[in-house]
Amino acid sequence: MTVMEQAAQSLRALALDEGLKDRIAADPTLRGLAWRVAERYVGGRTAAEALDRAALINAQGQAATIDYMGESCRDAERATAETEVFVDLSRQMAERGLDCSISLDLSHIGSVVDRDLGLANATRLAEVTASAGQEMMISMEGSDRTDLILWTHERLCERFEHVGVTVQARLHRTDGDLARLLDLPGRIRLVKGSYLEPESIAHPRGHRKLRAAYFAQAALLLGSGHPCSIATHDADLLEELHELGGSGRHEYEMLLGLDAGLLATMRARGHRVREYVVFGEEWWLYVCNRIAEDPARLFQALVDATSP
Ligand SMILES: Cc1cc2nc3c(=O)[nH]c(=O)nc-3n(C[C@H](O)[C@H](O)[C@H](O)COP(=O)(O)OP(=O)(O)OC[C@H]3O[C@@H](n4cnc5c(N)ncnc54)[C@H](O)[C@@H]3O)c2cc1C
Repeated sequence: MTVMEQAAQSLRALALDEGLKDRIAADPTLRGLAWRVAERYVGGRTAAEALDRAALINAQGQAATIDYMGESCRDAERATAETEVFVDLSRQMAERGLDCSISLDLSHIGSVVDRDLGLANATRLAEVTASAGQEMMISMEGSDRTDLILWTHERLCERFEHVGVTVQARLHRTDGDLARLLDLPGRIRLVKGSYLEPESIAHPRGHRKLRAAYFAQAALLLGSGHPCSIATHDADLLEELHELGGSGRHEYEMLLGLDAGLLATMRARGHRVREYVVFGEEWWLYVCNRIAEDPARLFQALVDATSP
């Protein structure tokens, strides 16, 4: 294992270390340093900050999506209260006239407490976003939840046309899932997949087979005319996909803070682009995972933490 791979593994372990997270939160100096690193990737702690960030993104001619961070909520009451945070976010987005959708993890709004609670809360949010004319994008979680998420999405598609879902090129099952999703309304977002999965069901990170699967699935989506989001920061892949053109119903999407220059390039080439803004107090895991994806970002973190 290379030193970079070891660093990535250590970061993923730190991301899951609740004790460390609490110690940093309790120490004002460490908290300040950690937040300076996080700010590159996180739109803010509050919805108001994320909305300001989305407005700035819109002013640059780009669409935005906002995700209130949180997953695996195991309490029914809290899951329903968290749903109301999204509802309020949708209302504020509409009031400000933003070109912005909502992104969410279904496990944040109750799907792992009970699938019907998850569906009920997702339906509430779908009703609110439909009447505000906003898109609602469902994220994809670990492979033990893929069926649950696709089941919920399919139920929502029986009533709504504006609810999209994310699929992970990493999983071997995705070709089959994509074939079914192309018959449903709603944008399909294609990502490589950020969860650690066994090689029996998934291509490993960085493997040429993952790249090949991503390219083939993205080409299928771009050629289909179905609304889709090609969500990757892989510059080589983007170069090749750009050559394929697109249906006009496609967009390129990237996470805040990862490669604004690349996103601007795709926009300059005539594609619609979207930037993904996360907000909330649950930023520790998210930020550690972003840095672990490319341990060279540790150097950036050092610069960010020590900049005045
Ligand atoms: C809008 C959006 C929504 C997302 N939603 C989800 C979701 O719902 N579920 C989910 O699982 N994931 C999601 N992700 C995350 C996604 O799955 C990937 O983990 C993340 O985007 C990194 O993969 P990448 O395609 O950007 O390319 P990468 O593979 O990270 O490539 C980006 C750059 O890093 C370089 N690189 C590749 N491998 C390595 C390595 N080992 N070390 C160092 N550098 C390397 C590449 O050469 C390339 O230049 C989302 C991503 C985006 C952009």
